[in-house]
Amino acid sequence: MKITDLKCAVIGRNPIVRIVTDEGISGYGEVEASKSYLKPYILDFAPALLGQDPTDVERVMLRIRQRGAFKPYGSAVSAIEMALWDLAGKAAGLPVYKLLGGKVRDKVRVYNGGVRPPMKGYQPEDYAENMRQMMAAQEGFTIIKQGVGFHSPMKREIPNFYYGDPQQGNPFHGALDRGLMTEKGLKHAIACVEAMKSVMGDEVGLALDCGPGWMPTDALRFARALEPLNVLWLEDLLTGDYTPFVNADVYKDLTQATSTPIHTGEQIYLRQNFKQLIESHAVNIVGPDPADVGGIAELKWIAEYADLHGILMAPHGIGDGLLGLAALVQVSATLPQNYIAFEYPLGNPAGFGYAADAPAWWYDIVEGLPEPIVDKGFITVWDRPGMGVDFIVEKAKEHLREEDRDFFE
Ligand SMILES: [Mg+2]
Repeated sequence: MKITDLKCAVIGRNPIVRIVTDEGISGYGEVEASKSYLKPYILDFAPALLGQDPTDVERVMLRIRQRGAFKPYGSAVSAIEMALWDLAGKAAGLPVYKLLGGKVRDKVRVYNGGVRPPMKGYQPEDYAENMRQMMAAQEGFTIIKQGVGFHSPMKREIPNFYYGDPQQGNPFHGALDRGLMTEKGLKHAIACVEAMKSVMGDEVGLALDCGPGWMPTDALRFARALEPLNVLWLEDLLTGDYTPFVNADVYKDLTQATSTPIHTGEQIYLRQNFKQLIESHAVNIVGPDPADVGGIAELKWIAEYADLHGILMAPHGIGDGLLGLAALVQVSATLPQNYIAFEYPLGNPAGFGYAADAPAWWYDIVEGLPEPIVDKGFITVWDRPGMGVDFIVEKAKEHLREEDRDFFE
């Protein structure tokens, strides 16, 4: 089998990769809804792919892997990797999890990141109310993640939250806002977590997306104050999200000084950039996103290596869309027992910042997803060939932009 074309269309807000072959089958991959602008960058990979056998996934990846980087530029390589696995599975008539070594579990736990009613405010009672609503979601999530501190409007809505001036009007939570917190700010963040835990009890796990932006001294005070609450993890306190570096040594100081689990990794591209984080035990949990880290095989390698070092795995995925969801299900089925849960992506992540106007019709243009998708916090792993979620071409065509009219041809 030979690759004859690489196409990319922005459907809704997600750039979709289509790898076309001379045997009449296509493989698809998806880029986060926040990265519509990557389409020309993705198309530039075509000359490296044409004529290659897509079922030799690693040999093709060796031709393109050097052209990725930390968010957002690992996305193009990652989406192509997913499309190659989709093709390899379809060609073999097997689900991708079989090609990755087979299932370790029949259903995969997910955690809630995107099923998120709007907050009414940023006081402790608002966090408690928002948590009650998320706990009532039909998906029955067993783990819910909430943004606090610098990963939350709390940083600008609470006066004198920190010794700095919050940036306004930037859609990314990212590394723009940073600084030492006031005692008032620190107490406020702790009070909001206590309020959430008071409604959650110990039936549903609480994870907190925190930054980046914290100074190490505040991060340690916060982590220690939360020790009695048994939160699942504190994510991206120091670096993460869109910071194009890791700072593993600073994470190590924090992680070794508290019993609250410390988590990072969604922005990181490639296993090599997890090396120091994992080998020095700088965090307790890593959370690469298969749509940023270099793909699903890359993520599996990191999970295995983390497990050897006593480090847990909770993949990121909130913006990965429905093809990204399929990729997350395939790879998560194969991960070792250090797997906790992946972040459940929506086709229409309403209320999720930049994707607030994402279209609900995404669910109507693909086939292969179970109904309901999430049951009691788990997704049952499906057995369709490839990633197992495909376009219903006639319906998807209706949503192509004018410049992408020939995408399925
Ligand atoms: Mg995060």
